[in-house]
Amino acid sequence: MNEFDNGLEEKFDFDFEVPCDSKVESVKIAEFLKDGDTLIFYGGEPLVNFTKMKEIIDTIEKSKKRIRFCMQTNGKLLNEIPLIYIKKLSKMLISIDGDMKRTDYNRGLGTYEKVIKNILEIREKGYEGEIVARMTLSFPDIYEQAMHIVGLIERHIFDSIHWQIDAGFYKYDFDKKQFKAFAGEYNKSIDKLLDFWIEYMKKNKKVLKLYPFLGIFESLYYDKAVKLQCGSGYANYTISTNGKIVACPITNGVKDFYCGDVNTPNEPLKEIYVKDPCTSCDYINACGGRCLYSNYAKLWPEEGEKLMCKTTQHLIDGIDERISEIDVLIDRGVISEDDFEFERYFGPEIVP
Ligand code: SF4
Repeated sequence: MNEFDNGLEEKFDFDFEVPCDSKVESVKIAEFLKDGDTLIFYGGEPLVNFTKMKEIIDTIEKSKKRIRFCMQTNGKLLNEIPLIYIKKLSKMLISIDGDMKRTDYNRGLGTYEKVIKNILEIREKGYEGEIVARMTLSFPDIYEQAMHIVGLIERHIFDSIHWQIDAGFYKYDFDKKQFKAFAGEYNKSIDKLLDFWIEYMKKNKKVLKLYPFLGIFESLYYDKAVKLQCGSGYANYTISTNGKIVACPITNGVKDFYCGDVNTPNEPLKEIYVKDPCTSCDYINACGGRCLYSNYAKLWPEEGEKLMCKTTQHLIDGIDERISEIDVLIDRGVISEDDFEFERYFGPEIVP
C-alpha cells in the first residue's frame, strides 16, 4: 500500500504496527472459527509460508471443528507441497492472466509453463478440487485470453474462470485516454465472450463457469438484490496479521475496516457496506458494488470511477439482454437452472 501522496493517510487511520507476516497463533484461529466456516489461505503468497499454513490446518483438524480449506495462490510452489495437504484444499484460485505470452508479460518469464506443469502434476496425482483461473486484466482482450483458458478447462487443467480489471486500486495509474480506450475495447470483448458462453451452452449442453457471468446472472434471473458480491464486510472477513478481523485482505492494518478480533470469538462482527455512489446507483441490485476498498478509498477521480462502472453496467446489460435466450435453453432442457449454481465468497469477487 506504499503509494506516496495518494491522500489515504488523511482518509484512513492506519495501524503501522501491523506485522508483515502473520503473528496470529494457530490455536486462536481454531478457537475463532465456527463449524461450517471456510478458511481461505491468502497472501501475499500463502505457499511461501507453508509451515504456518500446515500448522493452522493441523491445529484446526485437532480441534475437530468442521472447517473447509481453500486457497488463493500464484501456483509456483505447488510442487513443493505434500499432496496430503493439497488434497485438504477443496478449491483454489491460481493466478494466470491468459496465454503464455500475456501471463509471462505480467508475471515473469517462465511463469505460465511452471504453473501449468504444477497443476498437471497435482491433477495426475488425483487432485479433483475446483481450480479457478484467476485472471488480472490490464489489457482489454478478455475474449481472447478467456478462450485460451477455456482450452485449458477442456483439458481439465482448470475448472472455471474469474477475472478482475486492474483499475481503481492506485491513484496514479489512471490515464483517462488510455482507460477510455480500454473500456471501449473491453466492452466489445465482453459481448463476444457472452455470445460464446451461450453458444457453448447450446453446443455442449454445459454452462461454462465464468464467475462474473454466473453471479450477475443469478441476481438478474431470480430478481435477487445482491449485496457486495465478494461478501467482504458482512459474509467474508480477513484475519489480518495482527489478529484483527478486517473487512477484506487489502484493508490489513486499516483501523477503519476493523470488524472484530480473533481473540474475542464470541463478539459479533461489525458489518461494513459500500456507500455512495453505489447506494444511489440504478445498478446496485445486480452489481452490489464493485469493491469495498475502492469505494471508500476513492483513489481514482470521479470520471475514472464512472468509466469503470460503465464496464460493469455494460456487463449487467449484456447478461440481461441474453436472459430470454437462456430461458429458452432451460425450457427446452438443453441446460438446467442447477447448471448455473456456484459457491459465493470463497474468492471470486464476481464483479470484475
Ligand atoms: S455500477 Fe458502479 S456505482 Fe453502480 S453499484 Fe456497481 S460499482 Fe457501484
